[in-house]
Amino acid sequence: MAGEDPVLEVRGLRMRYGTNDVLKGVSFEAHQGEVLALLGPNGAGKTTTIEILEGFRMRSAGDVRVLGVDPARGDEGWRARLGVVLQSWRDHGKWKVRDLLAYQAMHYEPYHRPWDVDELINVVGLTEHANKLVRRLSGGQRRRLDVAVGIVGKPDLLFLDEPTVGFDPAVRREFHELVHRLADEDTTILLTTHDLAEAEKLADRILILAGGTVIADGSADQLSLRMATEAEVKWTLRGQRFVHTTTEATKFVHDLFKQHGDVVADLEVRRGSLEDTYMAMVHAFESGQHETAAHEFLAVTR
Ligand code: ADP
Repeated sequence: MAGEDPVLEVRGLRMRYGTNDVLKGVSFEAHQGEVLALLGPNGAGKTTTIEILEGFRMRSAGDVRVLGVDPARGDEGWRARLGVVLQSWRDHGKWKVRDLLAYQAMHYEPYHRPWDVDELINVVGLTEHANKLVRRLSGGQRRRLDVAVGIVGKPDLLFLDEPTVGFDPAVRREFHELVHRLADEDTTILLTTHDLAEAEKLADRILILAGGTVIADGSADQLSLRMATEAEVKWTLRGQRFVHTTTEATKFVHDLFKQHGDVVADLEVRRGSLEDTYMAMVHAFESGQHETAAHEFLAVTR
């Protein structure tokens, strides 16, 4: 929340593997209850960034504070305030769902109050499967259990790496509701996803990582305004359907009504999606205009 210390503070983060400079000065912040989506092409360094923040990987240079602590020096008490949902987690097949979560919850008790296990099982929609062996769960049920394991300690900060891969639409929607609920309860969430519609729906802020730096940082709306992506205008005139693509939708619609008045019907304006903006930004970056694009953009949103 504004005024409070940031939950995540990253300044000039650099990471080099051998001679490969993967992160070349990444800077961003996140505040309590914010949901951030970290986007970027494969190999951009998203996993590396998250692993450094989680304290699993030592950075080459830069200042990093996670819940006020340098992750390279985080102790057990600090770690207990983090939740991590990894991409594929395949242990504990012989445990029953409820027993596994109760066991995990126990580890947090010295630090702070974890979720009540039955409430948590209900929240992730596994009540019917609470006594099933983990290895008998379907892919989607398994993923919901991964999420439950990640949040069982009521983390202040939650890392979600590709959380909804393999979810069907209904489970995906339930999961989105859960993310909103956690954020409402002041959990800060950093997620990676390749599903841009998901990022748009969930994230307060989008960070795009490319070429070792953050090339964009802002809400989905701020990003799309910055890139002035095209909008699609649809309407009908006396039963005939029309479609027009424009970067100036408001002016176009105004002119349309001026010309045709109330004969215009079924008007729809669809702004450029985050996917259009993302593709435009990454394309601008890859064709060498990124320095200007990123600087102009950051000047607008910061
Ligand atoms: P992303 O998650 O955005 O796909 P990664 O952080 O996994 O990106 O990887 C970024 C780059 O760092 C890639 O070029 C990858 O090959 C390289 N990399 C990742 N981990 C290691 C490692 N342990 N040793 C050497 N290079 C690595």
